[in-house]
Amino acid sequence: MNSIPRIDPHAANRGFLAASGRKRIARGRDLAEGEAFTASQQSAQHQLPQIVIKDPKEFVLVCLHSREGTLSNLDREVLYVGRVLAGRRTDCALTVIVFGDLEIDMRQHGADRVIILKDDRYTGYNQEEKLSALEHLIDKLKPQNILFGESAEGDGDLARRLAVRQNMSIAPGVIELDDNKVRRFCDGGWQQGTHELTDILILNSGTAEADFDFETQALMENKLAQIPTKASTKEPANASKVLQEMMRSLSANEVPLEEANFILSGGNGVKDFDKLLRLAKAIGASVGGSRVVVDDGKLPRECQVGATGKTVVASVYIAVGISGAVQHLQGIKDCRYVVAVNLDESCDMVKRADLSLICDAEEWMDSMLELLGEESRKSA
Ligand SMILES: Cc1cc2nc3c(=O)[nH]c(=O)nc-3n(C[C@H](O)[C@H](O)[C@H](O)COP(=O)(O)OP(=O)(O)OC[C@H]3O[C@@H](n4cnc5c(N)ncnc54)[C@H](O)[C@@H]3O)c2cc1C
Repeated sequence: MNSIPRIDPHAANRGFLAASGRKRIARGRDLAEGEAFTASQQSAQHQLPQIVIKDPKEFVLVCLHSREGTLSNLDREVLYVGRVLAGRRTDCALTVIVFGDLEIDMRQHGADRVIILKDDRYTGYNQEEKLSALEHLIDKLKPQNILFGESAEGDGDLARRLAVRQNMSIAPGVIELDDNKVRRFCDGGWQQGTHELTDILILNSGTAEADFDFETQALMENKLAQIPTKASTKEPANASKVLQEMMRSLSANEVPLEEANFILSGGNGVKDFDKLLRLAKAIGASVGGSRVVVDDGKLPRECQVGATGKTVVASVYIAVGISGAVQHLQGIKDCRYVVAVNLDESCDMVKRADLSLICDAEEWMDSMLELLGEESRKSA
């Protein structure tokens, strides 16, 4: 399946406080039972305070699907909420079950214990196998709460099935919660209501600012990952095809800018906009631009990012030849990573960026296209 990740544009009502923390993504490896998730050389660098739950008496469980070895923004939010819930109790560990492989540093995502289920039986829409794994773990851990995200991978569906099978209370559409109460959408999203905390919680995106200012141990629970196979009789043999067939792949230019996860944006420093469009297509990015280029008719009005244009929340925003005027920066304040391509190293976009390339926009686009051309020739 090759669909473009989209972002929920209705992500309002952030419920948890955000603590500013360092974000870093690192490659992991297969780890032994009880070993911390990251490689040892990384721990030498780590500076954030560490939370250690040695002998947990209680558990909060988070269930996620990885996507190409990493986690989505929604997954990070669910982890953050799980971490906060676990942190408010004594000796309570946040245990995370991940369906699919994972290559990121879980210490920085709040997990105390990590269980990775990456066998073929857990891929696709294989809900029966996933449910039996979940039931096995629930039986062992007896978690206080189990958290899911309303994700494209069907975590919400899994949560609802689990609630029925285990006769557990469930709150879907959660947008805010504390120790005892949950606020959620009801009436198909037209109204909101509050009630007591339930066993199972399904979170909408935008519930939390996933910004950790501490690290955890993230110990691997390899023994718990040895889950006996349970032959499924309820799912049809081709059930794993269901989700793929229901999902239509979109190209990046079909995704509204507010929902785009990856944006290539051009400003006054770009001369050749055909080249920018070709590059956006080649890297699978949606196209944005500054007001100046939109006013000049180089890009359509719906591409304008900023205070009088669109507010975007992409995971990666590449600003090519954009100075970073306050009105433009306002439109990208919630983007996760900003990359600036600019000749002027003192401009405000470079100050805002997580990564800056001080070079000519045309030359950078030419080298990118050349590189991508070579890659596609090699793989052809
Ligand atoms: C009320 C109001 C509302 C506004 N709303 C918006 C809005 O919603 N969105 C918005 O974007 N603007 C908005 N603006 C306009 C904003 O103030 C800026 O004028 C605009 O964002 C500047 O666009 P720019 O960065 O593309 O151009 P410039 O400010 O001209 O910057 C061009 C950048 O390109 C770099 N550059 C030049 N040549 C090259 C090269 N060869 N290679 C690499 N880099 C190069 C330069 O160093 C510079 O940093 C608004 C203004 C007002 C007053």
